[in-house]
Amino acid sequence: MKLNQNFNNLDENYLFSKVGQAVLRYRMQNPTAKIINLGIGDVTLPLSACVVEAGKKALDEMQTPEGFRGYGPYEGYEFLRREVSEYYRNHYKIDIDRDEIFIGSGAKEDMGGILNLFATDNKVLIPNPVYPAYLDVNMMDGRTVEFICGTEDNNFLPMPDYRITSEIIYLCSPNNPTGQVYDREMLSAWVNYAIANNAIILFDAAYKSYITESDKPRSIFEIEGARSCAIEFCSFSKTAGFTGVRCSYTIIPNELMMLKKLWKRHLATKTNGVSYITQKMAQAIYLDKGIEEVDRQIKYYLENARLLREAFDKIGMKYYGGVNAPYIWLKCGEDSWKFFDDMLYDINVVVTPGIGFGTFGEGFVRIATFGKREDIIEAAKRIQKKFGKK
Ligand code: PLP
Repeated sequence: MKLNQNFNNLDENYLFSKVGQAVLRYRMQNPTAKIINLGIGDVTLPLSACVVEAGKKALDEMQTPEGFRGYGPYEGYEFLRREVSEYYRNHYKIDIDRDEIFIGSGAKEDMGGILNLFATDNKVLIPNPVYPAYLDVNMMDGRTVEFICGTEDNNFLPMPDYRITSEIIYLCSPNNPTGQVYDREMLSAWVNYAIANNAIILFDAAYKSYITESDKPRSIFEIEGARSCAIEFCSFSKTAGFTGVRCSYTIIPNELMMLKKLWKRHLATKTNGVSYITQKMAQAIYLDKGIEEVDRQIKYYLENARLLREAFDKIGMKYYGGVNAPYIWLKCGEDSWKFFDDMLYDINVVVTPGIGFGTFGEGFVRIATFGKREDIIEAAKRIQKKFGKK
């Protein structure tokens, strides 16, 4: 037996485990400290009533001989794929056929799985800074990775460089961690670059429901030409509080028929689908009061973001994001782990060091705005006290 040596090239711990361990150490030394965690991007609001009702109803069905269901379709139940397709038509004015939609148990799993379709000698282009899982999964397979760098000069929205060729391109908009979002023109430039390079764009739209500016695209398929070069990944995690429930969907357009065929083959071998109960809960988001209830949750987190932005504005700290995303990218201007320690030790507020999202994240920290309102208000007060003029 030989181990996959590529794991030696990874950091020993995933970023959020490192943050968690540091917080745990502090908590053990200071058991009474009132720590506010603005670090890990996990939701805090409970599931909405319509989602819970749908789950209970599905369970009741499973208790009857007629309603019981065993293995479901690998690609997901028709009822959920139909709702997603209609949502795209009604809200984004895009036609996505229901058989272009594949239900999964999380965007992280889907984005890891999709690499199974691509040869390991494809060159990969990954934004820096970005959600760390993209780099890690490619390193596990031993692919060569180049970075497209987000800096203050490009507002953390890096654009294609035709001197670099690549076959697999990751884009994340709204971006985790910077909270920045591409406009149509920028995404169009990426689509043109992908077509010119005969490359595929893996478009992570996990935070698309947070986009408030109406001119910003929610889907890559709003861009002309994208159907011939892009796959879109979406998640119910941050949209509807499904981080613990687990449900997502991937869109592979018919123009990419071979990839669609391989993805079906991949699913047939590697999963037995997502549970009926989970998919019924996800469907509820699109029915009756679902859209309204979920929208209320998103607005709650965006209001948290506004309160924190207001606090940073008052004390003159520079930041990005927080308008179209549940993340604020705060400029700390120093070693981001040192800033992390200062925040934890001085005011008991946890942030995520920017360096954990890539080398170009140094000098910044990510603030997640998924906390409870009272914690956000308290954190804003502590930050203003620490950094405001004395
Ligand atoms: N993509 C991005 C950019 C994320 O930030 C996350 C989770 O934080 C995911 C994907 C994973 O989502 P899921 O919970 O559906 O696996």
